[in-house]
Amino acid sequence: MKRDEFLQFLRDLTAYYDRRTVPTKHAIDLWFQEVERARIPAEAVQFIFEHIIKGPDFPRNVPLAIKEGFQCWARDQGAQWDANNEAKHCPVNCNGGILFMKRYDEEQDRDFGYAFRCKHCGRSNATGIPAAFLDELQREGYSVNKGIEA
Ligand SMILES: [Zn+2]
Repeated sequence: MKRDEFLQFLRDLTAYYDRRTVPTKHAIDLWFQEVERARIPAEAVQFIFEHIIKGPDFPRNVPLAIKEGFQCWARDQGAQWDANNEAKHCPVNCNGGILFMKRYDEEQDRDFGYAFRCKHCGRSNATGIPAAFLDELQREGYSVNKGIEA
């Protein structure tokens, strides 16, 4: 929040509560010192305003109210980020877009490890490895390789 954004914020807040007296320049200077330290991004300002005006009165401590609103905004962003990542979460729980599989080789009498790009979530754009669905691999004799070896 830059100084001009802060001044506009105060004007809006003063108008919202229909306050006759505007804060003194000295108070505004002191408040802005506090607010500036919080490094509030411009995109958070509207959220903070709406958060503060849920209160019954003009805040008794303006910088504190702004910082609380900012924390609320940050929590909200985090929750949205989690929600988006949940949506991208893989239905078969692959490993970051890769299916690590193994298959028994009769001739050599041992398991070999393989990696496939997971077609369920399509998260990986690793080139040079084939893409596959888990069930089709299982039908071809592959099983999930917990030990991740190539
Ligand atoms: Zn996947």
